[in-house]
Amino acid sequence: MMALDDSMAEQNNSNPAAAAPSESLVLTEADLEKRALGWAHTARFRTTASQLDQLPQTELPEIAFVGRSNAGKSTAINTLTQQKRLAFASKTPGRTQHINLFDLGPKIIPNAIFADLPGYGYAAVARGAKLRWQKVMADYLDVRRSLVGVVLMVDSRQGFTDLDQQLMSFVAPRVGNGSVKLLVLLTKADKLNRSEAATALASAQAVLGEITTDEADVGVALFSALKKQGIGDAAMVLHSWVHER
Ligand code: GDP
Repeated sequence: MMALDDSMAEQNNSNPAAAAPSESLVLTEADLEKRALGWAHTARFRTTASQLDQLPQTELPEIAFVGRSNAGKSTAINTLTQQKRLAFASKTPGRTQHINLFDLGPKIIPNAIFADLPGYGYAAVARGAKLRWQKVMADYLDVRRSLVGVVLMVDSRQGFTDLDQQLMSFVAPRVGNGSVKLLVLLTKADKLNRSEAATALASAQAVLGEITTDEADVGVALFSALKKQGIGDAAMVLHSWVHER
């Protein structure tokens, strides 16, 4: 029996006519990465809103980028989209509390939106402004129906702060039931050595384990704009959120 099975397997493997058609249809990992990065590169500014009711009502799947000020959010958006200054508007004085939207996909028929949400956690921000921020973020993450995913940037040297945890609690119900996906990027990973990076990843996974359910789609990855680490993988995750629904 063994000899027969082995020889049959060999026959199948060595039949070039059987193997060729499927091989030519399969996209390699490199193809998928290239496709995802090409899609991300199409991002262009659409509009800016200081209040939720100013956001356009749209059916387009939306991916929100959130994180503490200085976590590397603008740099991550610019790196993912391979554009130098796309997320620069968020840094313009007077616009730091705005939600900036970017369209992706073909020019006349965009197929997704990136939403750059205000960075949080500046110590100097007055209590009133903090409360206002909390309300905007909580409301956005709760009511924005077109939201399909959240990318949370966390400085890999600091790990989750209280505000990061608070933010995750705003979106936890929708992550828990699988209607919104979550990707945590541990930024500036180039500043860590190998063992520090492994520790940062493990502690983030432990925190995320607490909000993960059977339905949830939660990921975490080391990310470095400087060393170009994790960029293709992140682009493929976002691409799949939009295209595999
Ligand atoms: P944001 O406030 O979250 O938008 O943060 P920025 O994107 O402006 O980045 C904050 C600081 O971190 C800047 O000085 C960036 O140059 C730096 N930074 C961002 N990404 C990286 C990275 O991958 N590696 C290193 N070493 N520094 C980074």
